[in-house]
Amino acid sequence: MASTAEHLTSTLDGRWKEVRERTRSELTDPRFAPHYTPDLAEARAKALEQMRVLASMGYAADGFAADHGGTGDAGAAVVSIEMLAMSDLSLMVKAGVQWGLFGGAIENLGTKPHHDAYVKRLIDLDLLGCYAMTETGHGSDVQELETTATYDPSTGEFVIHSPTPSSRKDFIGGAAQHATVASVFAQLITAGPGEERESKGVHCFVVPIRDDEGNDLPGVSTSDCGYKGGLPGVDNGRIMFDQVRIPRGNLLNRYADVAEDGTYSSPIENPNKRFFTMLGTLVRGRITVGGSAGAAARVGITIATKYGLQRRQFNAPKSDNEVLLMDYLVYQRRLLPLIARSYALQFAQNELVAKFHDIQNDPDADPQEKRELEGRAAGLKVANTWHATRAIQEAREACGGAGYMAENRLTALKADTDVFTTFEGDNHVLAQLVAKELLTAYADEVQGMNPVDWMRFAVTTVGDVVKKRTAAQQILQTIVDTRQDNEEDGSLFNRGTQMQMFEDREDYMLSTAARRLQGAQKREDDPFDAFNFVQDHVLRAAQAHIDRVVLEAFVAGIDSCGDETAKALLNDLCDLYALSVIDEDKAWFMEHRHLSVERAKAVLRGINERCRSLRPHAETLVEGFGIPEGALGSAMLDGPGTDAVRMATVPR
Ligand SMILES: Cc1cc2nc3c(=O)[nH]c(=O)nc-3n(C[C@H](O)[C@H](O)[C@H](O)COP(=O)(O)OP(=O)(O)OC[C@H]3O[C@@H](n4cnc5c(N)ncnc54)[C@H](O)[C@@H]3O)c2cc1C
Repeated sequence: MASTAEHLTSTLDGRWKEVRERTRSELTDPRFAPHYTPDLAEARAKALEQMRVLASMGYAADGFAADHGGTGDAGAAVVSIEMLAMSDLSLMVKAGVQWGLFGGAIENLGTKPHHDAYVKRLIDLDLLGCYAMTETGHGSDVQELETTATYDPSTGEFVIHSPTPSSRKDFIGGAAQHATVASVFAQLITAGPGEERESKGVHCFVVPIRDDEGNDLPGVSTSDCGYKGGLPGVDNGRIMFDQVRIPRGNLLNRYADVAEDGTYSSPIENPNKRFFTMLGTLVRGRITVGGSAGAAARVGITIATKYGLQRRQFNAPKSDNEVLLMDYLVYQRRLLPLIARSYALQFAQNELVAKFHDIQNDPDADPQEKRELEGRAAGLKVANTWHATRAIQEAREACGGAGYMAENRLTALKADTDVFTTFEGDNHVLAQLVAKELLTAYADEVQGMNPVDWMRFAVTTVGDVVKKRTAAQQILQTIVDTRQDNEEDGSLFNRGTQMQMFEDREDYMLSTAARRLQGAQKREDDPFDAFNFVQDHVLRAAQAHIDRVVLEAFVAGIDSCGDETAKALLNDLCDLYALSVIDEDKAWFMEHRHLSVERAKAVLRGINERCRSLRPHAETLVEGFGIPEGALGSAMLDGPGTDAVRMATVPR
């Protein structure tokens, strides 16, 4: 019979349960055991060697369409890279660059000749690539990249060039050592017969950068980023191009093409729309990074929880026994809400991956759905990566001095995940993308409305935007509709009340942001000034939206659990998640009269109550994360008798 922890794992594994189980068993191979290898040369060689093992197992095929040489299971591709993050984040990032970013660019922006020429080879690692988008001068704003790709009709070639020092490609994974080819993002400059040469915006080109011996090709200058804050196994580097010629066919031309005579054509007329359509096809990287950060956070929290269940400190009065760390309320308050948030985020991530998979497999997918997917991917990337940064730091501190020892894993997890808040879209920039997506959901209709009409509109339509529920619509609506709200403490444990509070906050923040935006637009001549005036408000609205989406996913996740004991634990965890979010934004709820002083105190009491009720299940809850055997890689948990940790009986 399955244990409660196994039921939790199975629920949390979701739709790609089998892929997760398969990867779990693959990761028990000693070649994937977590390791501490600060030396760059060794770490890079190790990451590449691990990738070759994965390639020999056919690991990467899921991310590519069947007629390109893959299996076309996009969801499986994301989930299996996420699982790698539990074992080794350098490996996860390097695999993500090769198969997700470089491979993803070829797959999604290229056409048949590119698929035929590259996909099979890159799956098998016969071709190692990198994804050269960021430049020293432009990271978040990639529409303004400076690298040029100028078409020369006399030879039928593009000339790739770095015209300024700030146009140097920077931080590029694989560029320092292993990649022989790059997918380079550059301004495409061309002219048809009788036209003036002009930039048609940023496009992607396949550019060979090294020969088989690892030497830079003529016109290409690569350099090494050297030691970084973490991720020693990823060979990040820089690239400068000096008039490097590539054939016309190396333009990845799914969304735009250049004819032999230089004439530019694209099925998407609007350059802005074209650019964002191209970027939108690359959403997988962002989804993977968010999911991987969540996976790393679960590893860190598991280490700290297990430590708290074996480490004792200070005698309890009238007792000869020292107190187990996990029996201190404050210790529970530090870790259990993080466990709850990890569950919440993983349920939301599962929904996101499913949505991505379905859209990827639907040639007629609604463009609006695609935009919503991009917004959701951005929002959950933000939530997961900030959660990882916070949770792993807390886990490190929760293990005291032992947490600072490399052999106990947490320092590497911290160093390696830190940058996840920055790459694949800086979190602050992505949060704005989330809010803009929500605001534009009704922006067209808002234009030209007088304040009275606007208010009427805001009250009805913004509410509808918010009420567009994420999953399991009916269950969620029933919970809200049947809620029983009163001033009693107990009603804070009512799921409908919690959901309504999250929804009201989002609704209010969004509608007031839109109203302030409209006011600022009238006052300020410059649209930038108008947006900048309310930027902080917009970011908070995005956060409120993400919190609501995550809570709804948690509720749907609980509904999918088939075991009553596991379900009861999930319900308590969900309370802890919801009350923790309310507590963190208590000032807002009180300022806006959604929470009285008495109820605010009840929120704290509720959190403590849930911590106490979940304490006996702490081990089951982290076992439920389903970290592969051996993947914790923390010496202090390996056995009794070490100097650093005195072992005690672990309560069940
Ligand atoms: C280890 C590592 C690996 C990487 N790998 C790759 C790779 O393989 N390929 C690749 O192409 N790139 C890669 N990158 C680059 C990465 O994607 C960029 O660092 C990232 O997009 C952020 O760009 P930036 O560093 O220029 O920061 P900036 O865009 O300059 O941002 C700096 C700060 O300004 C803030 N900011 C920016 N714009 C706004 C705004 N509108 N409003 C408010 N605040 C704002 C941001 O929040 C941030 O805090 C990698 C980076 C690192 C560190």
